[in-house]
Amino acid sequence: MENYYTISHDNNIKTPYAPTIINSGEAFLSKCPKCDRTRYNYANRELSLLVEGKGKLPDYLMCGHYPLMIVSDRVLTIWEKEGVTGYTSYPVVLVDQQMEEIINAQYYNIIISGRAELDFTKMGVKIKKVCSKCGAVEYNKETWEFGEAIMKESTYDKSDIFTYQFFEASPACTKKVLEIVYRNKLTGFRFKELKLKFAYGAPKIDLKGLFGTKD
Ligand SMILES: [Zn+2]
Repeated sequence: MENYYTISHDNNIKTPYAPTIINSGEAFLSKCPKCDRTRYNYANRELSLLVEGKGKLPDYLMCGHYPLMIVSDRVLTIWEKEGVTGYTSYPVVLVDQQMEEIINAQYYNIIISGRAELDFTKMGVKIKKVCSKCGAVEYNKETWEFGEAIMKESTYDKSDIFTYQFFEASPACTKKVLEIVYRNKLTGFRFKELKLKFAYGAPKIDLKGLFGTKD
């Protein structure tokens, strides 16, 4: 388990971010008419995003309250060259405060296809109910009471970028992805140990400590 990590934008760095989705078309958020839960509409893949803040755009662009993975073309080029697996990419349009397209930066919405399952038996988690309309799952305890996340190794498709079934909004990755981010000095990424996925306030991984040369 120690070679898997959660992957997200680093919200401790002050950089421009993209808080607003300005696509017309289908609503990005909707409520399930049956169970009343809020669902993200992942079919909306080609997005337009409003960028706020000053300075250089990070390689992993934070997208407001939405669990989206928006990365620069530099990230995508490097991932392709290095053979990172488990995703498809869709170009996004970035616009500035004047609603003008930012043409000197190309970013992509990463839709993750890699999958694994959690070992609910080992974790003592039981599924109480699944919504027949939207698939939302109700457990015998709250997710912050799940304890350590244990992977059912036989269900893992070995993708470098993946999500757990039922937790499609929170990406995970292999150590290879961390090493690539460190070596290429990609900005805006944050990693934590995947087994601490449900632990509030788990420390972020120090990439220099992990990959830097010791002296
Ligand atoms: Zn539902």
